[in-house]
Amino acid sequence: MLTLRRATVRFGDRTVLDAVDLEVADHEIVCVLGPSGSGKSTLLRAVAGLQPLDDGRVFLDGADQSGVPVHRRGVGLMFQDHQLFPQRDVAGNVAFGLRMRRVARAERDARVEELLDLVGLPGAGRRAVAALSGGEQQRVALARALAPRPRLLMLDEPLGQLDRGLRERLVLELRELFGRLGTTVLAVTHDQGEAFALADRVVVMDDGRIAQSGTPLDVWRRPASEFVARFLGFGN
Ligand code: ATP
Ligand code: MG
Repeated sequence: MLTLRRATVRFGDRTVLDAVDLEVADHEIVCVLGPSGSGKSTLLRAVAGLQPLDDGRVFLDGADQSGVPVHRRGVGLMFQDHQLFPQRDVAGNVAFGLRMRRVARAERDARVEELLDLVGLPGAGRRAVAALSGGEQQRVALARALAPRPRLLMLDEPLGQLDRGLRERLVLELRELFGRLGTTVLAVTHDQGEAFALADRVVVMDDGRIAQSGTPLDVWRRPASEFVARFLGFGN
């Protein structure tokens, strides 16, 4: 599905992504973990086409994405501050990407309803987003990202602003939902509990490089370096 080959991003003389190699298989859920500033968001932005590479390549389904603009990559991106459109109702938010793609009205309405069911907000289409709870808004943002049926869904701290209990509940719901839809997911979080609950595989980043990649259990049992062990909270 997704392949990065020596993907490199520099800001001035700082290398923020340092020759990163990464593969994500179809239907796989990969969570990127790492300290603040390690390059997690830059990685997602580079895959989406929002951040040009200084070196290396991004491939989606085998096709080199160099020069392919964001809206032609077929990826969905959901940011931490999900930025719903406050002046549109729930359905207007979810349908946004469909309208941009000129999906016909009847199909749009059907898909919006289906997605609201999926994220556990059946019949909420006419509600004002400002009147929703944080968790409900997060679900609307997720439905909006899923609406164009992206081949790869990327989530940057998707549950960032929610309280612990709600995060734990939502993360299990998400895992179930992605499994059911067969969605391929690349998600960033700094919460290792969340990553371990959601992911088939976790990738730990350290200063622009991948320090370790493996199943949650592998990484937990056999941290590849002192950095990873310390990051996971061993020995301090
Ligand atoms: P966090 O967990 O805090 O979100 P992150 O791992 O997502 O961190 P990035 O946002 O990818 O980190 O940033 C990596 C580094 O690149 C940081 O040091 C950041 O300051 C720097 N950086 C990001 N975007 C830019 C930019 N447009 N110009 C200059 N430096 C940038
Ligand atoms: Mg970030």
